[in-house]
Amino acid sequence: MATFETEAVVLKQFDLGESDRLITLYTRERGKIKAVARGARKGKKTRSGLVLPFSYHNFTLYQGKSLAKINHIESIAMNSRLREDLDYMAYASVVSEYVERAGLEDEADQALFSLLALILEKMAQAEKKELLFYLTVFKAKLLLLLGVKPEIETCTICGEKINLKGSTPLSVEEGGSICQNCFNKNDFKNVFFNLNEMRALYKIIFAEFSQLKAESFPNQITEKLNQLTEKFLVYHLDLKPKSLAFLYTIRKMNS
Ligand SMILES: [Zn+2]
Repeated sequence: MATFETEAVVLKQFDLGESDRLITLYTRERGKIKAVARGARKGKKTRSGLVLPFSYHNFTLYQGKSLAKINHIESIAMNSRLREDLDYMAYASVVSEYVERAGLEDEADQALFSLLALILEKMAQAEKKELLFYLTVFKAKLLLLLGVKPEIETCTICGEKINLKGSTPLSVEEGGSICQNCFNKNDFKNVFFNLNEMRALYKIIFAEFSQLKAESFPNQITEKLNQLTEKFLVYHLDLKPKSLAFLYTIRKMNS
């Protein structure tokens, strides 16, 4: 059973010798694996020339001792826009790097795979101004998958149900909201969230992807949730993609 078939998304690639590429794949069946694409650098004339970052294919792979080799490819989505435009590339790189860091080798995570494939497809079809929203949704769903979603409805200290009227203090370190009682007793690092912002946070974590439309989230809220989800991933899971620096640079240039 050295040959196997799996859907996979290309996370990244390196040139290997004169004509090959070393690629990191996130597969539906086996999690993260490294593979060699023979002849990939000879261009799009060869099938393996299709194996580009952020593209999504059905692969037939041969598992060698350390690396897999590509026997056959059927393309599902090329997601070309994510490689052709710097803004799109910056966002897609961050998504890919989160998965590369969070995904385990040779261990399938169907939910993480589906999230990755779906978010890249959404980003490839999105308008530029919607990219930050999709990145934020991705991070919120990633927090849920990895078991560290922000606690919203009950106090992270005492477990009491939170009264969400007015504004609620939310602490990254504590893992979510803090009730007025506990807040008065202690000194927390926190950010205040109003009711609309709390609702938006709840929605991006729990709502079906198809229910989430960028235009129904004001920019200001998206910015705030983007920062919060990023901080959660760093603090609780030590996930901080290097490509975030590139994204910050691109965003600064555009502002
Ligand atoms: Zn409390």
